[in-house]
Amino acid sequence: MANDHAEPKGGMSRRSVLGLAGIAAGALALAPRQSAAASGHSRSIADRILLNGKFTTLDAARPQVEAVAVRDGRIVGTGSSREVTRSWLGTGTEVVDLEGRRVIPGLIDSHAHPIRAGLSHTLELDWSHVRSVNEALSSLRQHASAAQEGQWVRVVGGFSKYQFREQRLPTLAEINAAVPDVPVFVLHLYDRALLNRAAVNRLGLTADTPTPNGGWIERDAAGNPTGLLVAQPDAAILYGTIAQMPVLDATGQELSTRRYFSRLNAYGITGAIDAGGGGMVWPDSYRIVDGLHERNELTLRLAFHGFPRPGHDYEDLARYVNELPLDSTDPMLKSNGVGEVLVFSALDFEDFFQPRPELPAVMESQLEPALRLLVENNVPFRIHATYDESIKRVLKVLETVRRDVPGYNRRWIVDHAETATRSTLDRIAALGGSISVQHRMVYQGVAFAERYGTEAALHSPPIGDMIAAGVPWAAGTDSTRASGDSPWTALWWLVTGKVYGGARLLGREHRVSRIEALRAWTGGGAWMTSEEDSKGRIAPGYHADLAVLNADYFSVNEDMIPEIRSDLTMVAGRIVHGAGRFTHLAPPPVTDEAVAATLTAAAAGGSVNNGNPFQDASSWTCAC
Ligand SMILES: [Zn+2]
Ligand SMILES: [Zn+2]
Repeated sequence: MANDHAEPKGGMSRRSVLGLAGIAAGALALAPRQSAAASGHSRSIADRILLNGKFTTLDAARPQVEAVAVRDGRIVGTGSSREVTRSWLGTGTEVVDLEGRRVIPGLIDSHAHPIRAGLSHTLELDWSHVRSVNEALSSLRQHASAAQEGQWVRVVGGFSKYQFREQRLPTLAEINAAVPDVPVFVLHLYDRALLNRAAVNRLGLTADTPTPNGGWIERDAAGNPTGLLVAQPDAAILYGTIAQMPVLDATGQELSTRRYFSRLNAYGITGAIDAGGGGMVWPDSYRIVDGLHERNELTLRLAFHGFPRPGHDYEDLARYVNELPLDSTDPMLKSNGVGEVLVFSALDFEDFFQPRPELPAVMESQLEPALRLLVENNVPFRIHATYDESIKRVLKVLETVRRDVPGYNRRWIVDHAETATRSTLDRIAALGGSISVQHRMVYQGVAFAERYGTEAALHSPPIGDMIAAGVPWAAGTDSTRASGDSPWTALWWLVTGKVYGGARLLGREHRVSRIEALRAWTGGGAWMTSEEDSKGRIAPGYHADLAVLNADYFSVNEDMIPEIRSDLTMVAGRIVHGAGRFTHLAPPPVTDEAVAATLTAAAAGGSVNNGNPFQDASSWTCAC
């Protein structure tokens, strides 16, 4: 460009010159990094400068800085407040004084289900931060009194009885007394569901309702269902029930998704790797996020995995291999391959309230062609595997396929791996695999320790061994059903090893420092989408994704970590969330009135009353 070195006449002309060149910003990422002061031979103007902060950059060249300059969605300069101001302040630059707050790179959840969660978020009641049975019951009461005709009150997982002071779930009698007339559905992780009398009636459950394969219905002396449904041996009965409830129309789903992503932004989350989940089919289930992306309204960067349907797994994988935009480098919305289920027979149900399931004998014969398809086509994938026994069998198949088909060079992920042994981790390392670790133990750790002993719980998951084996790892939540969605609860667990209802469960050698935990929550996820050169750090050339925290993550008491929130979250240089004195910098949130209007439409759809809502449930074996 001819005027590359010309003194800009004003912010706009300079900006438009650089705006043409996405390349210019990309090139910066590869060039040797320079401080703002050193690079300023021609005066440059930033869109926005954040100054007087305590930035933890995770950039080895400059790990701590006071200020950053942002232009065209990228970080262009870092340094002291004086340096950055001198180099980058100009006409039109917006300056935000952070008043000494801690700033971190935007958090990336390496395993979650936010696209699915967004589609129904406004229909659900969240218990992830509820601390007692009484509080839970009063939230049911309050929600029911505001419910419109036809509406359910539903808590769809994301909490554990161990987080309640009483260390128990509300009883059916308590739920029926709290809400006698509006149908209530409470899903506890993926282990059981509690339905009040109105919900049992709405579903048409009677003494004649047959017990489905994938579940157990508690019945009274006369054979009538009491309202307790248990996932035994799998979560089919719970999925079957959820499928009977009304859904939002497209307008409602879009509003719900925007509100859900704002909730994640308020934690400081700027990106997620979406692991699909039961019921998610590409492209139909992704139209809402596609639409938001087209209109530049996405506030969360998403890399999603194509998820097959039960009974159609190979067929769907084959379609995804051909049709998913696997080579897209769009930094806001792209596909990261397939999974977390490849074939349903390889899925081990991670319910620690139940005995470990043995994968069926047919598994290998189904997984092998699936893996062959992916390896031959060099398609990235992730695979759900909780127990060492399952992972070993999966690895044996993968080792065979990789021996037969050389040349695979994609990053691939084992999800969960709570009980992986050192020899298993060595095999994952040898195959170039990585592991996504979530804090499911916070919710289920007490149940795990009761079943397998506290000694086993010390090593579950074996994070220290993963590091020693050289396996790349990243952190996440597995929200919204198998656990809550707060990264701060997950960071607290990584650092302290503490779980709900117990003391420190995870052993010292498997906990990590605050900075290592932060790395797993930023650069870890960036690595899993092959974007470690543009995400996960606050450094020149990187995307301007960051969170200004309301408390200093590095110095607060460890038990205050779960309380941390973002005061200001930036994605691609846009402020997507603001709290306190930064509220006015963010766009206005989705209002309750707008949400209420979409719930009216939802109440009209949905529920059946045919006496056997579980007839199709056997296809839902997945607890993801
Ligand atoms: Zn999973
Ligand atoms: Zn999952």
